[in-house]
Amino acid sequence: MILQKTIRKLTPNVIGKIAAGEVVERPASAVKELVENALDAGTTQIAVEIARGGLDVIRVADDGCGIPPAEMALAFERHATSKLSSEADLERIGTLGFRGEALPSIAAVADVEMRSRPLTEDSGRILLLREGEAIEERSEGMATGTVVTARGLFRRQPARLNFLRSPATEAGQVAQVVSHYALAYPEVRFTLLVDGRLTLQTPGDGDLQSAAAGVYGHQVAAEMLALPLDGVTGDFGYQTLSLTGLISSPGLSRANRNYMTLFINRRWVRSRSLTYAIEEAYHGLLMTGRYPLAVVDLRLPPDDVDVNVHPAKVEVRLRRERDIFRVLQREVRRVLSSRSPVPFLSTGAWSEGSPVAQTSSLRRDEGVALAFQRLDAATSPAPEQARLTPPVPALRALGQVGMIYVVAEGPEGLYLVDQHAAHERVLFEQLLDREEPPERQGLLEPLPVELTPLQSALLVEMAAELEEQGFSLEPFGGQTYLIRSIPAVLKEKDVARTVLGVLDTLGQDEAVPDRRERVAMSLACHGAIRAGQSLTPDEMRELLRRLEATRSPRTCPHGRPTMIHMSADALAREFRRR
Ligand code: ADP
Ligand code: MG
Repeated sequence: MILQKTIRKLTPNVIGKIAAGEVVERPASAVKELVENALDAGTTQIAVEIARGGLDVIRVADDGCGIPPAEMALAFERHATSKLSSEADLERIGTLGFRGEALPSIAAVADVEMRSRPLTEDSGRILLLREGEAIEERSEGMATGTVVTARGLFRRQPARLNFLRSPATEAGQVAQVVSHYALAYPEVRFTLLVDGRLTLQTPGDGDLQSAAAGVYGHQVAAEMLALPLDGVTGDFGYQTLSLTGLISSPGLSRANRNYMTLFINRRWVRSRSLTYAIEEAYHGLLMTGRYPLAVVDLRLPPDDVDVNVHPAKVEVRLRRERDIFRVLQREVRRVLSSRSPVPFLSTGAWSEGSPVAQTSSLRRDEGVALAFQRLDAATSPAPEQARLTPPVPALRALGQVGMIYVVAEGPEGLYLVDQHAAHERVLFEQLLDREEPPERQGLLEPLPVELTPLQSALLVEMAAELEEQGFSLEPFGGQTYLIRSIPAVLKEKDVARTVLGVLDTLGQDEAVPDRRERVAMSLACHGAIRAGQSLTPDEMRELLRRLEATRSPRTCPHGRPTMIHMSADALAREFRRR
């Protein structure tokens, strides 16, 4: 017999825990909620600090409006919010938060300390909570604004802890959240400290490009194109839509979709369909498996957006999704076709070079490469060897076109070889295969360089691999480092610029799992012959000879083609010889 248990109202703490599972599933979600609260409070700067992936400490500080002392405890009650008061408000939500769930949810899974002082108060107030219950509250002098500290996240929920990844991975997720908001709010100054190390900083000057530089580095930001084309909201046919942002030029891409950031009315959202609209606009411009970088902010009438779909407020429902899809795709495409050289030949005669033919021939190559891979699986464990492309025949250099391409003849027709991409491939394999210590170029006087936080983080992370290739840099206080030597493959005169360039490229290739490969890729890119450099017949011959000897002569280390082939058959067809 089953005895009926008494029906009781759950204690707020239990309710908090149930909801917390949805609102706070990992450190990054807690950071997201706290950053949103700071933004809703009208802050001009946000400092985020985490220790051990956010599991030991998460701290978010702002200089926003603060919380009146009398309301501090109330903020931790479920469904207590200052942002909504009537049902009608729910139809047009102008703040990032509105459910009044974040603070109680965080307090249910961590020990929380909140300090806050509104402008109108002479002193601030501190509230300490344990297991969701206030245990201490007192007044204390402090600067205006709010600081929330969460300690020991999920310490009392071991089951939840088991689902988390390594602290480094969780820290990466936190960095992504902070990056997203730093890009959405260029007028707010963001800093992120991970285990005491400054890993992200934006100036808060209101300029999207400089926010992008703080998040992705200066070199990447410089290659981003502004959206929309005319710099103003165009006639979108959908009158109330406005769209601004940055998108990568086709020369810049990443190996995953994480670098496409979408905002709707300044709220970071995920939308498969709108992400796909951006991707589609790059059709034919990027290699398979490569994705653009983008930061796009859409402004729609609040009535057209429903954010009240999921507690984490990341999924949204859009009333006119299909219209928005079309506008977004068209605008991205318009910017791409007007501002960047299209990296394929498109004259009718050179039919192999048309974008469609080019991608499909690449796919063919990849098909062959896969077959090779299977055949060689037992004998070639090295990841680089697994990417074998078919060998190229002996080529005879005929000349140079535009100081960019080498024209060559082979037994099967005509080849156009991209001199930079080809040399990158050659250097890359050389650097990876080299057995002796690297040739170094020592400097007579150590040269100081100042690094961005991201650059110095990369330097620390990849220290061993950089050293192995011939770099010697030592810390010289703050973000300054002294360059003592660089690898001899880097023949540039401006040593400091080259070192910065190598670090930035390392940052761009972060999807490459093997660190040695990543360093070799970056060195190859910076050491290779540039486009625009004139080559003697001997140099051209030497380049082709070395390219033929590589394991994957048809692609550069990033997967871009090193050559375009026009077969004798295709030539004959074009000239109507058959
Ligand atoms: P919501 O953001 O959905 O209102 P929260 O639980 O995140 O719910 O916060 C509850 C309330 O606490 C907010 O409505 C706001 O009034 C106050 N609050 C929270 N964080 C801050 C902050 N950083 N600055 C000022 N007020 C805050
Ligand atoms: Mg909130």
